[in-house]
Amino acid sequence: MNEEKAHLAGLSLSELADFVKEFGEPPFRARQLFHNLQARRLRDFDEMTDLPKPLRARLADRATPATLTVESRYISEDGTRRLLMRTHDNLPVETVFIPEERRDTICFSSQSGCPLKCDFCLTAQLGLLRTLTAGEIVEQIIIALNDAYGVSVEPPRGTNLVAMGAGEPMLAFEPLMQALRVMADKEGLFIVPNRVTVSTAGVVPRIRELATTLDRPHLAISLSAPTNELRDRLMPINKRWPLDELMRACKDFEKSLKAGERFTFEYVMLDGVNDSDEHARQLAKLLNRYNLKAKINLIPHNPAESLPYLPSSMERIESFKRVLAAKGLHAFVRRPRGRDIYAACGQLAARRVNAITQLPIVQRA
Ligand code: SF4
Repeated sequence: MNEEKAHLAGLSLSELADFVKEFGEPPFRARQLFHNLQARRLRDFDEMTDLPKPLRARLADRATPATLTVESRYISEDGTRRLLMRTHDNLPVETVFIPEERRDTICFSSQSGCPLKCDFCLTAQLGLLRTLTAGEIVEQIIIALNDAYGVSVEPPRGTNLVAMGAGEPMLAFEPLMQALRVMADKEGLFIVPNRVTVSTAGVVPRIRELATTLDRPHLAISLSAPTNELRDRLMPINKRWPLDELMRACKDFEKSLKAGERFTFEYVMLDGVNDSDEHARQLAKLLNRYNLKAKINLIPHNPAESLPYLPSSMERIESFKRVLAAKGLHAFVRRPRGRDIYAACGQLAARRVNAITQLPIVQRA
């Protein structure tokens, strides 16, 4: 792919209007293009047959609707799909499609690799390769939807998005917000911010900024330890923004919550490390000190051979949950999805899994 070409998937309708104007085309072409790119989810100008052929050729010289290529695609026994893709500069991007009873969820990446060094996460071992562009974020959703339902086919029950793939979304703040604006357009993908959850390891200034953002997505905080001592070890970002600073930012964020909205704390359960009843009491004390109306997701750790942790047993997790409940805190145990294909939380590390079925890539419905 030529880096000089404009990547149209990350442009809003008004930005496309500017592009089309520069191109010497009438304004209605912008709406046509946006419809083809976002509503019909087409990734090739030649498929946009409502555009004159000479225009398609001119467009292809100057712009591209698609920059990601799907390298492999894995399907878990639980139906979860992991798409391993490459950027134009050959960096890995991973997206996970999670079928659910009520509404399917797409977990997308905001960076290739990740600069944070969470000790229980495989992605951390890649380091930061590059922050993704808005177009690359939108394209992940388009590719995942086309793969799951077929090109141009409406998701039957709508789609939820979670920015919980590779990378720290708050370090990709501008492209992420741009992508969310593009995807919210009702003439395109029409996935509104209310259907999107952004998870952060605790980039405090961005939590505050998100609180003041109009039409913002929901927020989840990856916590995973109730004390600074333990969190410094598990999530080194804690040394920069320790728990009290993080909690104060959460408290400020709380003021921006709408009726019925709560934010979420994610807590990865690591066997014998952060999962004792005493840890649960410390967690309850921390959250109750700030009187935070949050829900807590307890996530059994997803093991990998190069990570020095094991998942907590279900009995341990249930006991942890009971201690929290006794202190008035609501916790939910998250069922691990796609573990067998390295698609689960903290497992995205551009793995090519040989032992599982690798299916041909679906091109068209
Ligand atoms: S858990 Fe998230 S923030 Fe931490 S290293 Fe992994 S991808 Fe980065």
